[in-house]
Amino acid sequence: MKVLAIANQKGGVGKTTTSVNLAASLAHLERRVLLVDLDPQANATMGAGIDKARLKHTIYTLLIGESTVRDTITHSESGRFDVLPANRELAGAEVELVDAEHRETRLKTALAELVDDYDFVILDCPPALNLLTLNGMVAADSVMIPMQCEYYALEGLSDLVSTLKRIKQQLNRKIEIEGLLRTMYDPRSTLAQQVSDQLVKHFTSKLYHTVIPRNIRLAEAPSYGRPILAYDKSSKGAQAYLQLAEELLARHNALDPAPAL
Ligand code: ATP
Ligand code: MG
Repeated sequence: MKVLAIANQKGGVGKTTTSVNLAASLAHLERRVLLVDLDPQANATMGAGIDKARLKHTIYTLLIGESTVRDTITHSESGRFDVLPANRELAGAEVELVDAEHRETRLKTALAELVDDYDFVILDCPPALNLLTLNGMVAADSVMIPMQCEYYALEGLSDLVSTLKRIKQQLNRKIEIEGLLRTMYDPRSTLAQQVSDQLVKHFTSKLYHTVIPRNIRLAEAPSYGRPILAYDKSSKGAQAYLQLAEELLARHNALDPAPAL
């Protein structure tokens, strides 16, 4: 089982779109996948077609110890993967766990029960470096960082990299940067090209070859509760996320240890 956190404290960079569509693409490639929604916005839950209003157990009840991990797991029909879903209640977890023991290791402990059940666990993190993201980073083997190629992208990245270094020293010695993913890419934008060139220069080995284009079909799919593969398989967005899943699998099969932080 490989646990992959999709994280960037910057909002709206494509974390959830990547989580849902990478999960569906890996499932399409016959991998057993669990998607974990760590964001009270619950966008990943809805994008996977799960009705958040009808959930009895969620990642919130799991983290506060009111449900077991197996009771909390639900299934996405449209995505063909399992989900640990979220709803608004999750926003209260930070406050409720403030004095709790082992509060940063709760997700890790829960996932440890599932080592033989899944090939990949994908964690959709919220746009903040809060306790939920921390639970994600403590549970993760590696972090995938989606980013838009715009002016402030590199600045946010250095904050994230220093947070990861701290987590590596204090809470999770094995965590690595899995890779940087360029999202919502518009090849006609000169700025996007320039930022992309900078990324290639500074992060060569950590940058995915796959680039996710700006594609309206990717933005439409969540309102139908479907990953892009179940909404418009022939779209550029669907093809890009399939290619990303293949690149990820190829990297893992190459037996190269992930690059050091
Ligand atoms: P948040 O920080 O709020 O959790 P996020 O990083 O998870 O946001 P998304 O929700 O995935 O980002 O994407 C933000 C918006 O951009 C959404 O409306 C989504 O549908 C849209 N979007 C994401 N990727 C693409 C793309 N490649 N092409 C077009 N639209 C996209
Ligand atoms: Mg999101």
